[in-house]
Amino acid sequence: MGIIQVMEEQLANQIAAGEVVERPASVVKELVENAIDAGAKHIDVSVEEGGLQLIQVKDNGSGIQAEDVETAFERHATSKIRTNRDLFAIRSLGFRGEALPSIAAVSKVEVITSSETTGLGRRFVIEGGQRMVNEDVQSMQGTVFTIRELFYNTPARLKYMKSIQTELGHISDYLYRMALAYPSIGFTLKHNGNSLLQTVGNGDLLQVIAAIYGVHTAKQMVRIEAEHLDYRLEGYVGKPELTRSNRNAMSWFVNGRYVRSFPLNQAVLRAYHTLLPINRYPLLVMQVSMHPTLVDVNVHPSKMEVRFSKEAELVQFVEQAIHDQLLGQPLIPLAAPPK
Ligand code: ADP
Ligand code: MG
Repeated sequence: MGIIQVMEEQLANQIAAGEVVERPASVVKELVENAIDAGAKHIDVSVEEGGLQLIQVKDNGSGIQAEDVETAFERHATSKIRTNRDLFAIRSLGFRGEALPSIAAVSKVEVITSSETTGLGRRFVIEGGQRMVNEDVQSMQGTVFTIRELFYNTPARLKYMKSIQTELGHISDYLYRMALAYPSIGFTLKHNGNSLLQTVGNGDLLQVIAAIYGVHTAKQMVRIEAEHLDYRLEGYVGKPELTRSNRNAMSWFVNGRYVRSFPLNQAVLRAYHTLLPINRYPLLVMQVSMHPTLVDVNVHPSKMEVRFSKEAELVQFVEQAIHDQLLGQPLIPLAAPPK
């Protein structure tokens, strides 16, 4: 008899959870991305004790069909891709089918969802990967996920959680970025009942910038809009007097996905050229759209890294567009005219 065995599903899910669910903010991320993929126009997030006690995400998206709810918690179960051809043209934020089983492996989950307008829905409860309840209930169309006691059964992971303030910081950072990426979706965030973010979802990016960075900052942003062959650029950059000490002030969204990109950041720095003081970075909120085959998002599970198939072309377009439109502005107070 050999000694090698395929591990039980629950154990496999717990191991996968180690990658997908690093901290409360990862749960918020996965649930909010699912809500966006479901076409929600309003997403309400409410957390308690930095998300360690409770995370609730409520959306008015498509909902999950009653007979699909249990399947959604199985490993690699997804409605978003079917063949490997889909993998090369991903239009949704999720596609791995790993989030729900991973979250359910390390917390207590309740979901109430309805895909109909009849008021009929489904309530499903799963704790530590163990199915507890699957019943018909009254529900509006949309989905409410409630996650309690994250990491209650993985004490080693729980021990590594930072202070409530730090965990909350990760959650709000993420939600701010999503609000910036999706000005047409109304977001709210509450912590222990206190409101931390509210956007209306009317599509006005500058209003979202004002809600997050303040009205004064929003007034010093320059609108950028450009289109070239494969790429479309739309967003705002700060005037040079509005610099920050950190590269994180530059938020890039590629096809609605927040990404970190060294080459894109460098393109912006070149566009500002000598207008930036040394070691200062501009505030930037920029959406880049392109055909999904031009960007590979399947690089890392946290999906923050992407690969562009024609990077040099994209980088040149971004630098040129920002350079031209920034310098087209009355940026620097003109020197007093000679007497
Ligand atoms: P993925 O997002 O990679 O498909 P998940 O484990 O996050 O995998 O979700 C599994 C499936 O559950 C999704 O493909 C989707 O069909 C369904 N689902 C999850 N959350 C929602 C939601 N808020 N609204 C509608 N459907 C959802
Ligand atoms: Mg998902």
